[in-house]
Amino acid sequence: MSQGKITYCPAGHSSENSSYFDYRNFISFDGICSLCSREHYIEEFKTWSSGNANIDNIIQESQINNKYSKLHWIPYDDFQNIKHMADGGHGSVYSAKLENGIKSHWNFIEQDWKYNSIGVKVALKEIKDSRFDIVEFLKVMKIANKHEYGSIIKYHGISKNPSTQNYIIVMDLFDGGLHNFLTKKFWDLWWGSKIGISLSIAFNLSRSHEKNLVHCDLHSGNILIDYNFDLYYPYLDLGIDLGLHNLGNDLILNSKKNNEIYGSIPYIPPEVLRGNEFTREGDIYSFGGIMYEIITAQRPFADQAHDTYLMIDICNGVRPKVPDFMLNWIPEWYLDLMYQCWSDDPSERPTAAELYVLFFDVSELYGNIVNNNVTQQLKIADENQKNTSKSQKQELFELFSHSSKLHPQSCYVSRYIRTLHGLHDLLEEIKSGKSSDPNLLLSNESTILRSKTC
Ligand SMILES: [Zn+2]
Repeated sequence: MSQGKITYCPAGHSSENSSYFDYRNFISFDGICSLCSREHYIEEFKTWSSGNANIDNIIQESQINNKYSKLHWIPYDDFQNIKHMADGGHGSVYSAKLENGIKSHWNFIEQDWKYNSIGVKVALKEIKDSRFDIVEFLKVMKIANKHEYGSIIKYHGISKNPSTQNYIIVMDLFDGGLHNFLTKKFWDLWWGSKIGISLSIAFNLSRSHEKNLVHCDLHSGNILIDYNFDLYYPYLDLGIDLGLHNLGNDLILNSKKNNEIYGSIPYIPPEVLRGNEFTREGDIYSFGGIMYEIITAQRPFADQAHDTYLMIDICNGVRPKVPDFMLNWIPEWYLDLMYQCWSDDPSERPTAAELYVLFFDVSELYGNIVNNNVTQQLKIADENQKNTSKSQKQELFELFSHSSKLHPQSCYVSRYIRTLHGLHDLLEEIKSGKSSDPNLLLSNESTILRSKTC
């Protein structure tokens, strides 16, 4: 039997018709025609509404123009088994089962919709923060969904909680954040795995930057990962939650100084702490913090208060320290690269594409056991870590561990922070102790934020 090479659907659409500006119409013998699907999506526009015309427009546009991952309006009734998972900076995250799945295409043989993800568990991010601009976020989601494969996290669409009237972002469900993964698995990770994780993040970041998306809030809490992360084929099991992505173009047009930013101080680049705009190079600085965490299982500046003094230190070139006992478990080139990502001068940082190519090359060499300086260093690092006895490791790690040394006024949940530009008039008074530091968490705030994870 022929492999479904048909040129016309029953509605008369030809495979030569262009349904998307740069693709031919796709028709297959088992009932798929891209143009039929698009017509049925359009027919249904009048049957649903999110209650916000801008949101409706973006979803509709994606259903007309996105070839692969279209956004959907998903009624709240479709979710079963809703369970609270975590609280984050903008709201709460729940898991839920998609009872009926999500429309994938109109089938012209059955004259009905075909559904994907039936019975699949998804994450629901209910937005409770009134400052969160869901329309802007959706625009970014629409662009991010244009990735054809192994993407930044897959966003299915938008829903609304009828009892709170809050909008909900519906996205892929992962086991958890990178930080928890590293805490659980740190001793099982050899360098092949560490390179695999770095490679996957660099890959996702370079795809975002290609699409002109700057993340602006990259940290280990919004890198989501399945705990059975396949280290030989990492692209599918790890994703970066979009956070507050900005569109690169808008940033170039908008060069004013900022009084306030949203994020976690240890991952925010010095130029942004000073009040400048967040650029692609800023994401690379944040990536340096993630590289640090991959090799130490600690988040940067975990033993310090995350306050204006730390911001000033970072602007003066202070960077997180790798504990001495770990140094012979880490290849020198990796450390050099991490410090290059942390360079005070954004133009000296590598690009995401360069990082991706570098980690890709290293993983290929490592897999093929090529003996050169880079892979030699990795093998020695693996050996050194292996030769440290378990009890010794445990002891060393306790000294440096999260639970015993995490500073009560550290904060790894994204929050609003006054930049040094925004504090300009207050800075001297804060330094002399005449004014309290607005960036220092009060102890009750710190308890609330600490219970949040993303
Ligand atoms: Zn058709």
